[in-house]
Amino acid sequence: MALPELKEFRRPESAAELSGVFQTYDDAALFVAGGTFIHGLEARGLLSGVQALIDLRRLGLDGLASDDRGARIGATVNFTRLAAMPGIDQPAFGALRDALACPPPQIRNMATVGGAIAASCPFFDVPAALLALDAVVTASAADGAARELPLAEVYAGVFVNTLATGEYIASVFLPRPAARTASAYLKLETNANDLALVGAAVRLTLDGAGRMSDARVVLGGGLNETHVRSAAAETVLNGAAPGDEVFQRAAQAIEADINPMSDHRCSAGYRAAMGKVYVRRALQRAVDRLV
Ligand SMILES: Cc1cc2nc3c(=O)[nH]c(=O)nc-3n(C[C@H](O)[C@H](O)[C@H](O)COP(=O)(O)OP(=O)(O)OC[C@H]3O[C@@H](n4cnc5c(N)ncnc54)[C@H](O)[C@@H]3O)c2cc1C
Repeated sequence: MALPELKEFRRPESAAELSGVFQTYDDAALFVAGGTFIHGLEARGLLSGVQALIDLRRLGLDGLASDDRGARIGATVNFTRLAAMPGIDQPAFGALRDALACPPPQIRNMATVGGAIAASCPFFDVPAALLALDAVVTASAADGAARELPLAEVYAGVFVNTLATGEYIASVFLPRPAARTASAYLKLETNANDLALVGAAVRLTLDGAGRMSDARVVLGGGLNETHVRSAAAETVLNGAAPGDEVFQRAAQAIEADINPMSDHRCSAGYRAAMGKVYVRRALQRAVDRLV
């Protein structure tokens, strides 16, 4: 890794220490957590001017707890640990289990939830699942101030987030899902180490009459510049009974909400076509988890 201007690697243990680093380096300081995507950012020319790396892992952001309201996941919890969270075996968390299983084990042991979100990479899997589960992010500033924002509001564009200089993700909250809720995530990739060409995370709840409600359809993998919910697909699903015909219609409806990328890996047309296939399959997978 080449960071020619790098002067310091810091591991602050308090907010005051963190604040001091930002007073010195301001926007020339870069947070690091698991460190698995630093090379990816550098290779894309996104780390020029970085003079200090700030490791977040001694700030006590590694809590993992749940209660009647939901689960709070510390930003530096890694994928392996999150995949063993008590209660994650419920159908409602199926999308998160699916997404956490995507990267190879070495990455799962290092990559953190906060890093997966903050990188703002539309090709990552875990953010799609977290969006389908209505995740809320707590962001803390170097001076200690904290704010909560829906996960979707963290994303501003490809590799661009809305966090201010010195502001970091402290934790993520997943509200407790309603009874009879299931979710699923499916990814199209070219090989086991590839980022998603297409990713689809879905969630639905079945009411007493067997109709779907509170549907979520989240698309990633380059179907848009950021992970995006498809309101059109969700409208098709809500109030309908699950089945292949309605899943097909929901999959077609994503057309209204996507703006697929064309790049060296595949065309926009291919992404759009496969996005529909993966939405349909993910919906079926979610429903299968409830029977
Ligand atoms: C070989 C390989 C295979 C992979 N396969 C997959 C895959 O199949 N699916 C998938 O989804 N992903 C995959 N990834 C990507 C992986 O998920 C990310 O690299 C990881 O989630 C980033 O988390 P991290 O903790 O390592 O972040 P870091 O690399 O430490 O940081 C990434 C970015 O986030 C910022 N950051 C980190 N933590 C915070 C925080 N708490 N607050 C604010 N900013 C922060 C950093 O400043 C940096 O800009 C793969 C990566 C590699 C290298």
